[in-house]
Amino acid sequence: MIKETFVPLIMVTNDDGILSHGIQQLAAALMSLGDVVVVAPDRERSAVGHAMTLNHPVRADQISAGRFAVDGTPTDCVNLGIHGLLSRKPDLVVSGINRGSNLADDITYSGTVAAAMEAMLMQVPAVAVSLDVSHLCVDVDYSHACSYAQRVSRQILLHGLPADTFLNLNIPVGIPRGLKITRQGKRIYDNKIELKQDPRGRDYYWLGGNQLGFNRQQDCDCGAIADGFASLTPLHLDLTNYHSMKQLSSWECDV
Ligand code: MN
Repeated sequence: MIKETFVPLIMVTNDDGILSHGIQQLAAALMSLGDVVVVAPDRERSAVGHAMTLNHPVRADQISAGRFAVDGTPTDCVNLGIHGLLSRKPDLVVSGINRGSNLADDITYSGTVAAAMEAMLMQVPAVAVSLDVSHLCVDVDYSHACSYAQRVSRQILLHGLPADTFLNLNIPVGIPRGLKITRQGKRIYDNKIELKQDPRGRDYYWLGGNQLGFNRQQDCDCGAIADGFASLTPLHLDLTNYHSMKQLSSWECDV
């Protein structure tokens, strides 16, 4: 009798859109680990964070076998994939490979990271993968990021993840010196807002300040990337600042 071997079902998504090179190469790299289904936004949806579409319908077009383009956010994609499009609950969700790192404070803006978080909320193990490359770079080499994404994914499939935990993997440009387990760091932004004028003479603003650097804390994600290492941070959704609970309990807010 032939013993049936278990083939993991892996769902791939991103926030750069289904046509981005990062997701195409990631999906190809993960095919050695199991069946891969891509459910991703039909256009770039970077920096939408954990947004979910509630006030208009969301459509999913199957553009080829195992590939669905969704006119929604990364969080919509994870919901649609897990609850509608996939034949069963996936064993792993991999989000990326994002063009640009998602480190420190950036992760709360990131659609790439939010997609992995959404999967975690549905009890599906998940990892977000980002490459520390400039948005202006035209010829991006995803090969090392693919190989780390594949290795980390394999470990998740083998060992699972702790409860309420998902992973944030960032890869430096060039050949990584290795991988470090890190904590979420702290960016320094200039918070500058550009005021410009459009061709019709009306003012407009351009948001998104420059990153001036980061606070070098021990074991932080920014430090690992700056030193040429891949960075793997275990994240959870609990944003509570436990140290502050005691301080707030002395406030006289009761009537
Ligand atoms: Mn992106």
